[in-house]
Amino acid sequence: PNANLFAVLRAAFPSDLDAIAVETDDGLYYSWRDLDRASAMIANLLEALGLEAGDRIAVQVEKSVEAMMLYLATLRAGYVFLPLNTAYREAEIEYFIGNAEPAVVVCTSANAGWVAPIATAAGTRHVFTLDDDRKGTLLAVAAQCSDQHRVAQKRPDDLAAILYTSGTTGRSKGAMLTHHNLRSNAEVLKDYWGWRKGADVLIHALPIFHVHGLFVAIHGALISGSPMIWFNRFDPKRVVARLPDATVFMGVPTLYVRMLAEPTLTREACNGMRLFISGSAPLLLETFEAWRERTGHTILERYGMSETVMLTSNPYSAVQGERRGGTVGFPLPGVKLRVVSDAGEPCPRGEIGHIQVAGPGVFAGYWRMPEKTKEEFTDDGFFKTGDVGQIDSLGYVTIVGRSKDLIISGGYNVYPAEVEGYINALAGVAESALVGVPHPDFGEVGVAIVVPKPGAALKGEAVIGALKSKLANFKIPKRCFVVDELPRNTMGKVQKALLREQHKGLFA
Ligand code: ATP
Ligand code: MG
Repeated sequence: PNANLFAVLRAAFPSDLDAIAVETDDGLYYSWRDLDRASAMIANLLEALGLEAGDRIAVQVEKSVEAMMLYLATLRAGYVFLPLNTAYREAEIEYFIGNAEPAVVVCTSANAGWVAPIATAAGTRHVFTLDDDRKGTLLAVAAQCSDQHRVAQKRPDDLAAILYTSGTTGRSKGAMLTHHNLRSNAEVLKDYWGWRKGADVLIHALPIFHVHGLFVAIHGALISGSPMIWFNRFDPKRVVARLPDATVFMGVPTLYVRMLAEPTLTREACNGMRLFISGSAPLLLETFEAWRERTGHTILERYGMSETVMLTSNPYSAVQGERRGGTVGFPLPGVKLRVVSDAGEPCPRGEIGHIQVAGPGVFAGYWRMPEKTKEEFTDDGFFKTGDVGQIDSLGYVTIVGRSKDLIISGGYNVYPAEVEGYINALAGVAESALVGVPHPDFGEVGVAIVVPKPGAALKGEAVIGALKSKLANFKIPKRCFVVDELPRNTMGKVQKALLREQHKGLFA
């Protein structure tokens, strides 16, 4: 049997290959046959370059259906797909391409002028361009290639992709994912989220350089033979307008916030929807509740990371339990998840500690970082996620922050998510971030950065005052700044490292 993920996805295509597989929001239609043929042509192009197994295909292009076809073609031909965030500029691309040493680089025509020299300097032999309007050298050359292609033979442990982490806590690391990692997760989610063969329609509005849009969303639709409505860019008005044609939507929390700002988001608009999924960053309880109020749908929040694919999910069916806001649900079938103390001892239920995981989705290690890889695994083979959380008596997992964001103030642990929860509940607060900064007496103290609701007059001192009756003194932020917005990266993650850096001199 062939463990190539493409073979698995291809086997799930509906028997009617002329049915629609992808409809773009700007009115293009792709059939399943189109996906098959185009991926074959690009796979043939790649094979004709004389690459070796394990060679990386680095891709920094704007989102398009053709970019997805390039991903499928890379799997199909048995090479390693390496997507790069479209926001990266010269210094970043230099690092990633230098680090990954890809045999092939695909970039936009607009960026080719500076990407190509970087690639060449790093020893890349082939540079192609691909634009989001089907132009560029990649498709021009692929058009000359045969549309018949035999899927490359792969073993379960062969690499399928290297995904650089989002760089939220430091420099991005390349997570090496195997065909088996991706396949097992896709199969579990297909069952767990009740994908219905050929009967679901996914709205795909996420970037495809990240685990969420590339794996969770694309694999979900393909492995259930379900069509997608495809957005190259997220546009809240347009997405809301297409909800009546869809059944499943996946978003990062900021997408939900932006859709809630659209008056056209109504119960009626969501009538045909089956499932709204959120992940990649914590979903505010307020968003969770506002969404339920407005649409009648309860967002299903799940948790995962580049290194592990998906780990936990709130239940899909009521039989398994209710979807609890503020939690990320239960470990998925096959995932072992435990919470341990600083000393590595298992924590009792309800106690906060470090989240460690094992299971079929856990990656093969960080690209060219054997030492780092070793450090992040325990002796008994669990991966240290770097997230801090707890498991309650019913088994729901809650994430309270990242270990790097933990604040130790006067010897006491302060969990940012707990304090942020209290701040967010205050009148006039839209959202907040608590970060630790150095302090001569306490070692570290919490500093709150707060975004007011539109029109609310908020004062930092008042926020601190309001918390005093609610929380122990060591948890109270020593300073509170009111700002227009929190710094976020492209995945909608708050950049706490940046905030810490900004405020590190406050008490020096
Ligand atoms: P880096 O590892 O480079 O610092 P990153 O961890 O943000 O960046 P990703 O792999 O994209 O890179 O993100 C995984 C992280 O996202 C998880 O470790 C977790 O902290 C966070 N995350 C994902 N889903 C959720 C969720 N539902 N709730 C809270 N946090 C989440
Ligand atoms: Mg991480």
